[in-house]
Amino acid sequence: MAVPYADLHLQYQTVKSEIDAAVASVIRDSAFIRGPYVDAFERAFAAAVNARHCVSCANGTDALYVAMAALGVRSGDEVITTAQSWISTSAMITHAGATVVFCDTDTSTFTIDPAAVESAITPRTVGIIPVHLYGQPADMGAIMAIARKRGLWVIEDCAQAHLARYKGEQVGTFGEAATYSFYPGKNLGAMGDAGAIVTNRADLAERMAMVARHGGLIKHQHQIEGINSRLDGLQAAILSAKLPHLPRWTQARQAAAAIYDAGLNQIEEVAVPHVASERTHVYHVYTIQHPQRDKLAAHLNANGVQTAINYPIALPFLAAYSRFGHRPEQFPNAHRHQGRVLSLPIFAEITAQQQKTVIDLILAF
Ligand SMILES: *Cc1c(COP(=O)(O)O)cnc(C)c1O
Repeated sequence: MAVPYADLHLQYQTVKSEIDAAVASVIRDSAFIRGPYVDAFERAFAAAVNARHCVSCANGTDALYVAMAALGVRSGDEVITTAQSWISTSAMITHAGATVVFCDTDTSTFTIDPAAVESAITPRTVGIIPVHLYGQPADMGAIMAIARKRGLWVIEDCAQAHLARYKGEQVGTFGEAATYSFYPGKNLGAMGDAGAIVTNRADLAERMAMVARHGGLIKHQHQIEGINSRLDGLQAAILSAKLPHLPRWTQARQAAAAIYDAGLNQIEEVAVPHVASERTHVYHVYTIQHPQRDKLAAHLNANGVQTAINYPIALPFLAAYSRFGHRPEQFPNAHRHQGRVLSLPIFAEITAQQQKTVIDLILAF
């Protein structure tokens, strides 16, 4: 039995009538850029993640840029982030004008190590961007304690962690602002690019909206030089139709993860994802570690199981950062993980039979 890494069409079929009606409404109203469908989604999403304000934008990468620009990041500033993430997180620090300072991840959760953050702070540090990688919250208690003590802002990169919780509180409610991606494969996915920033600060929300909309909220009144990063009406209507299903889809991912955990725990070479206490993982990806990762991946792929590697090269070691001359011993955990991590198929509609196929193939290996 072939097992895809994800199956977006299957999810569409479960909500087809709602999506089709939403798309038809936007076309009927010609509400293509901003407008009532975008306003409605911003309100609904803010409520869903327990934030006061939501500013939508074109994608999760822009969301990071817009948040930093609104916070006044400038040349000479240093921003700390994790060695293990998608490149958007660090690239936008550079595009916002600051210098990226990478920190290693901890040994068990793949998220930024607060002790490494503490020792990376210099007089130039202005903020910290923890990433709730794979869907597990970073150690927000420790990170916020450091940020408060040192007067730094925190932007949570929630692109992989819609509805995840830390000590019962939703991710994205700890820092100054939080960024989301609605890339089609994310836990809440549009049918194209889409993103958002949430914050509890009204002044920051207004500033972020200005940055994302050509520097002004009133036509021809450009208060600053902004960018063009707008959510379109079609994506907003699709996201609004999908949002009510997100809690159920999240539970389905968690149930699938529990099945993998039970099936794979017995295999000595496999390390299943460790979830730290008082953190709720939403399993955007289900990532195991294996000492013979590439051979295991080839075995699975040869037998019809699609897998992914998130990510084969940790950020400090990418060609894009060769200017820093980073060495593996500076980021030992991220460096070890890059050769060991393997993401297995996971999506809300995955069947027990499909998961059994994956587990049996790993057992056979
Ligand atoms: C997906 C992702 C982004 C970027 O989102 P896009 O919508 O693809 O621009 C940023 N950070 C992380 C951690 C992501 O996974």
